[in-house]
Amino acid sequence: MPHVAMVSLSGTRVRDAELAAVGRTLPGLRGRVDAISALPPLGLLTLAGMTPDDWTVSLHEVDGGIDAAAQAIARTRPTLAAMSALTASVEDAYRLAGLLRAEGIATALGGLHATTCFAEAGAHVDAVVVGDGEPVWLELLHDAALGRLRRTYRATAPFDLSRAPQPRLDLLGPATRPRYTVQTERGCPFACDFCGASRLLGPFREKPPERVREELSAIVARDAQSGIELADDNTFARRRDARELLSALQASGLPWFTEADWRIGEREELPRLLADSGCVQLLIGFESLVHRHGGMGAKDASFSRMRAAADRIQEAGIVVIGCFIVGSDGETERSIDELGDTLEHLELGDVQLALPTPFPGTELRRRFEREGRLLADRGWPACTLFDVAFRPDAMTVESLERSFRELGERTYGTSESVRRTRLRRQIWRRNPRRDRKEPS
Ligand code: SF4
Repeated sequence: MPHVAMVSLSGTRVRDAELAAVGRTLPGLRGRVDAISALPPLGLLTLAGMTPDDWTVSLHEVDGGIDAAAQAIARTRPTLAAMSALTASVEDAYRLAGLLRAEGIATALGGLHATTCFAEAGAHVDAVVVGDGEPVWLELLHDAALGRLRRTYRATAPFDLSRAPQPRLDLLGPATRPRYTVQTERGCPFACDFCGASRLLGPFREKPPERVREELSAIVARDAQSGIELADDNTFARRRDARELLSALQASGLPWFTEADWRIGEREELPRLLADSGCVQLLIGFESLVHRHGGMGAKDASFSRMRAAADRIQEAGIVVIGCFIVGSDGETERSIDELGDTLEHLELGDVQLALPTPFPGTELRRRFEREGRLLADRGWPACTLFDVAFRPDAMTVESLERSFRELGERTYGTSESVRRTRLRRQIWRRNPRRDRKEPS
């Protein structure tokens, strides 16, 4: 019987050793990194869900230890190792593929990075999946079984999410996860210049609520004490009728979290409906307080307007995690220090900080390339969101690294963590599900 090894190169990465060491000591960061690392690899589980019954499937979540991972995968004697990797982990994927190919195992790589850099990826693996994986999956397996993989598999049309299979949660083994992922839409109608997720896998599409309901039921059957993280880029960005989706989420009884944009705080009933359905946290991009990023369309608004919208969401009992990009053009040590002051006075339940990151396929990368500002020697492993991968326009690389680290220490240190924990408790007391255990 042919066998496919599904290989996810997961985990949060930080290249800057000093920043990584500081991050491990900060109370406001501990737990968050672990929670992200424990998210199930939904894309691979979904492909496993459409794998024919005459194939066996194993799942390998690789977070470091490439040699050991290669040995473990080789022991399953796969017909094909199907890999997914982010930009920051793609060089690990290439090394792993090299070890597997040396054992005579065929390899394939998909995902956003492989989609954009398919020629580069093709030099390291036997087959590259460009774009959505679902439309070409059966053909890829068929060719692998016959030992005649093509160099590239590219869908001729975007995958119709109404045909999405049930992800194979059983491959995760008996241990439960704090959160399970469900995708309710793919892509994003916006085109923020720093975002690689919005367009690379095709146009914006929504999954019919009844399919979402089925996936939620399978998660509840496995673990009724877990939470849901919607694997969407911007839930509700253009949703025709949120009520059907919210009804499916409410019926699951599970608390849930997603990424959205501030405008939902201005939609009259929506914050209350979200809270009623079990929404406990929303990650909302405030982006930069200094630089106006391109492509943000209706998302582009004054800080005060976004803040007022976030207040309304939190009044409904939902914690807003405000996401800020630090180090965009025009930023100086002083402006980053002022951002720290602003954050200390903001009544946001939590904060996420990231650096502008030139992911392949983004307008930001194309601009940095044109301006000769990419730090070529740092390469893909620096595309972590937390490492400087470009030359800032108004400060040095070293001063941005230092300012980002100091901002992190201020924002996630003890006093701010205690203040925001207290704030989250106050917000939770307004949530209609407050009789349940407080979400972590
Ligand atoms: S709204 Fe979010 S997901 Fe959409 S393009 Fe902008 S950053 Fe990307």
